[in-house]
Amino acid sequence: MQKGKINVQTENIFPVIKKFLYSDHEIFLRELISNAEDATEKMKALVRGGKSDVELGDLTIKIVLDSKGKTIKIIDSGIGMTAEEIEKYINQIAFSSAEEFVEKFKDIDGTNIIGHFGLGFYSAFMVSEKVEIKSKSYKKGPGTKAVRWECDGSPEYLIEDSDKKNRGTEVILHVSEESKEFLDEQRILGILNKYCKFLPVEIEFGEESKWVDDDEKKDKDGKAEKKEIKIPRIINNTKPLWKKSPTELKDEDYINFYRELYPMQFDEPLFWIHLNVDYPFNLTGILYFPKIKKNIEIQKDKIQLYSNQVFITDDVKDIVPEFLTLLHGVIDSPDIPLNVSRSYLQSDSNVKKISNHIAKKVADKLEDNFKNDRESFEKKWNDIKVFIEYGMLSDEKFYEKAEKFTLFRNLDEKYFTIEEYKEKIKELQTDKDGKLIALYSNDLDAQYSYIETAINRNYDVLLMDGILDSHFINQLEQKLEKFSFSRVDADTIDKLIKKDEQIPSKISEDEQNKIKSVFEKSLDSKSYSVVFESMNEDEQAVQINQPEFMRRMKDMQAMGGGGGMSFYGELPDQYNLVVNSNHALVYQLVNDNDEEHKEKIVKQLIDLAMLSQNLLKGKDLAEFIKRSVEIIKPEK
Ligand code: ADP
Repeated sequence: MQKGKINVQTENIFPVIKKFLYSDHEIFLRELISNAEDATEKMKALVRGGKSDVELGDLTIKIVLDSKGKTIKIIDSGIGMTAEEIEKYINQIAFSSAEEFVEKFKDIDGTNIIGHFGLGFYSAFMVSEKVEIKSKSYKKGPGTKAVRWECDGSPEYLIEDSDKKNRGTEVILHVSEESKEFLDEQRILGILNKYCKFLPVEIEFGEESKWVDDDEKKDKDGKAEKKEIKIPRIINNTKPLWKKSPTELKDEDYINFYRELYPMQFDEPLFWIHLNVDYPFNLTGILYFPKIKKNIEIQKDKIQLYSNQVFITDDVKDIVPEFLTLLHGVIDSPDIPLNVSRSYLQSDSNVKKISNHIAKKVADKLEDNFKNDRESFEKKWNDIKVFIEYGMLSDEKFYEKAEKFTLFRNLDEKYFTIEEYKEKIKELQTDKDGKLIALYSNDLDAQYSYIETAINRNYDVLLMDGILDSHFINQLEQKLEKFSFSRVDADTIDKLIKKDEQIPSKISEDEQNKIKSVFEKSLDSKSYSVVFESMNEDEQAVQINQPEFMRRMKDMQAMGGGGGMSFYGELPDQYNLVVNSNHALVYQLVNDNDEEHKEKIVKQLIDLAMLSQNLLKGKDLAEFIKRSVEIIKPEK
């Protein structure tokens, strides 16, 4: 037996490590299994490359929990280590990288930056009062005897010969009192499922039941009864879907894998993108487009990030573009540096490249879908619209690509690309400056009567009631030339009628002015201006609309934008009271000499218009009801 002292400056680094990694103790298992996995892959590579002629045998990594004995064993059949190698890799390298880690992060509040830091072998000490290694190298010859190493976390260690027969390494954790939660089978199973579910080497933990034919017990027809036997439980799927070639996969495979990833998701994904990149970096993965609910809920099921099939995190905030965080699925890349803090990740050029590449792939895939199967693309449109608008709003490159396939939906449920739509409305919806005006509704019920008016005039109305639509409208207006949007209840619609198409007014300007004053008197408010429009006689007699510009300013103010406008206090409401000069009622008003009656009709007309805009409240509403009853009650 031999004792030694590890050469580190920090006398006892473990209390520090424990403090740093407080919230993430469970990663010890991931780290140790990763090492076991590495050693196994190395063994396979040596044999494959003809550098070793050992019999590979069963390479399964075994996790053995002994709750009573308070130990967890991680056993592999990898390359193993000689005494010399333990001295080098464990005593020196592993220790010094742990020390380096502590040095690097001791001034920072560690709890949240450590998430991705692979601390390696020494993370074993986060949960153990003592760690043993028994190892036997695949190498033959002098100095390759099996060894046992032991350390309690102080720089002192012990090393001696061991009677281990099989090739490989066995790490034995003597779990400390404060970490006894890890002596629970379900807890370990949970950790294995989280981090190791898709590791490429089989991992065995505990047993599971299997029902087989019991040949000793046959019924009269000679059919065997079933009996329960216990078999080793393999917790991982060593060939996850994203590692396979898309050509050998069916839709069903993708949908099943989605269920495997998110057992609690009941909706099927809309579609998916299989990523497979090997230059200039390595990346595989599958991104699923989920069905989005009415609101962008905080997505419970997130994209999972793997490094060589080892789960790292599902917090991919700085790795994939923001708008893609709405997607589900898996990204696997050994090229994403994991042992670093978030701020480093953000500035890492690899991460940037990966992020751009993913966004580009997603745009390409969407474009393919659009080009190759427009019908199904349109069917999915309502669900994917929010991704696309979000992408166009937040990513310039994505905007450029998506401009070609983003769709407008009109009230007939027809879909148009931007170019197609320009063509559609060109004739009737060009204003006097040659600008195209797209009319839209964001609330079919509230804007019902305005929609009716627009449709009667053969205008087209878009449905823009999505959560991002108001931002999207602003963006399109900035990007597209001579193109603007106007809500269907805005004053714009009347300005669309060209001079030569105008219907002649049945009442003269003088007559208009005469009744205008009656309206103004009755309104008694600075918020309303009375305007006359020469419309069809069967259109509304009086309607209220709001200047588009004013409404937008107010919307912006409500959202907290508007560049300092709030400095002047809240913007006043501004409405137009539009009187249809060709309506029979208006025509009648001109010839009505009973002032009192005239005022009553005007009041009633105004109130009706306000009512349809949901503007009639309180006392005014009560008076309106009273007056209405009076008008319809039978004469005495
Ligand atoms: P890393 O894995 O990042 O190199 P670790 O601290 O986890 O750092 O491990 C240090 C070294 O110890 C490894 O690089 C490897 O050479 C050796 N090692 C650890 N675990 C095993 C194992 N199960 N089998 C063989 N070698 C191992």
